[in-house]
Amino acid sequence: MEHTRRNKIVDLLKSKDFGSEVLVKGWVRTKRGNKNINFIALNDGSVIHSIQVVVEVANFDENTLKLVTTGSCIAVKGTLVESMGQGQHVEIQAKAIEVYGTADNETYPLQKKGHSLEFLREIAHLRPRTNTFGAVLRIRHAMAYGIHKYFNDQGFNYLHTPIITGSDAEGAGAMFRVTALDDKNPPMLPDGHVDYSQDFFGKETKLTVSGQLEAELGAMALSLVYTFGPTFRAENSNTPRHLAEFWMVEPEMAFYDIHDNMDLAEDFLKYLIQYALDHCYDDLEFLNKMYDNELIDRLKGVLECSFERLSYTEAVKILKASGQSWEFPVDWGTDLQAEHERYLVEKHFGKPVILTDYPKEIKAFYMKQNEDGKTVRAMDVLFPKIGEIIGGSQREENFDILVKRIHELNIPEKDVWWYLDTRKFGTAPHSGFGLGFERLILFVTGMSNIRDVIPFPRTPKNAEF
Ligand code: ATP
Ligand code: MN
Repeated sequence: MEHTRRNKIVDLLKSKDFGSEVLVKGWVRTKRGNKNINFIALNDGSVIHSIQVVVEVANFDENTLKLVTTGSCIAVKGTLVESMGQGQHVEIQAKAIEVYGTADNETYPLQKKGHSLEFLREIAHLRPRTNTFGAVLRIRHAMAYGIHKYFNDQGFNYLHTPIITGSDAEGAGAMFRVTALDDKNPPMLPDGHVDYSQDFFGKETKLTVSGQLEAELGAMALSLVYTFGPTFRAENSNTPRHLAEFWMVEPEMAFYDIHDNMDLAEDFLKYLIQYALDHCYDDLEFLNKMYDNELIDRLKGVLECSFERLSYTEAVKILKASGQSWEFPVDWGTDLQAEHERYLVEKHFGKPVILTDYPKEIKAFYMKQNEDGKTVRAMDVLFPKIGEIIGGSQREENFDILVKRIHELNIPEKDVWWYLDTRKFGTAPHSGFGLGFERLILFVTGMSNIRDVIPFPRTPKNAEF
């Protein structure tokens, strides 16, 4: 086939240019028909819908047509015509077909439709070819783009924070070690520990759990920054909401207090949901039909309400008075579990909730302390079906209070001296938060397992693809 530019199926399906010559390339979803005429559903990933290719069998080499099976990759030259069939307004009358790659009927794992999501996880290398994962991956892309667009439009600077870190002060979770030492024969200290001073970076290093501490350094110069990158947690939490490798969006803003921080979080989430409705409607409709028929209503519902804001202390009162029986009992001072978060959002308020002023014992060292001496200016945004989607806070900008807290928690000052320097030189009130990107994608797609909203999930005992 000569070198003409291929037409994307997304464009052809919108075209009214009947009679024009087109060239499409893609993967065969189905082929059906009889000995005179074949209908091929062809998909190139540009849109959820496939285009119908009509093949008059008599005009083609029989052996070529035999190779056109579900999963094979082909190029088709033909004429765009108005379709008489149901569910599409255009189709292609094929003139020439070239087979790029065959897919054996007997062994191609996606031969049939309707595989379970569990099965598809075992073939993560092929699942992007299903309608479901096509939809999820296009939405994921649109959300990543929307995030950059939102922050860019608001004057934020994208700050690239390191993935390899020498600090484990964040305390957000267990960390993966990064080392270049010989695992069979590492240098040892007399006390029996590995001597990391001889390692690549001259100290022990880990994969980051968050870009926040470094983002704060950026905010103390550029005012408005955000990070958007992979983060890692080596916790053995096999839940539908946790990954060992996930992407986190972390804006950090100088001169923002906790209220500004909540306003930004709410505006940001609503912007992204509106962006999905505006740019991914076909994919959302598909997911709404196939998996979750309240999805689109739920997305619109979030746009129409204002998020309920209340303190942790008030939330605990509501939970205790609810008469519910919990798997994890609630009492002032305990961390809230997904069951509690979802009760507040789904049953009690019926809309997203922002909880503030958590007990300082269950939150990180850097959060700004309230005058009561017991709580910190934390904020968690809780969403229907998800629970916590955002965690953030106003940061403690006072040097003495911060150092005191660090000592109370036995965090070695030598690990955070550079962080403390921001409070020593030109400190400023500031705030920020972390949005789990996959939790956002869970919400927007209506999928229920976080393994199904990232192309190649990293979870305990799973790093095959
Ligand atoms: P959780 O209590 O749900 O485990 P967390 O409080 O440990 O979350 P933070 O440290 O506050 O999480 O991280 C900020 C955000 O990152 C969370 O609000 C959540 O959206 C997301 N997140 C945290 N841990 C994970 C994970 N293991 N996999 C995917 N997303 C995560
Ligand atoms: Mn959190």
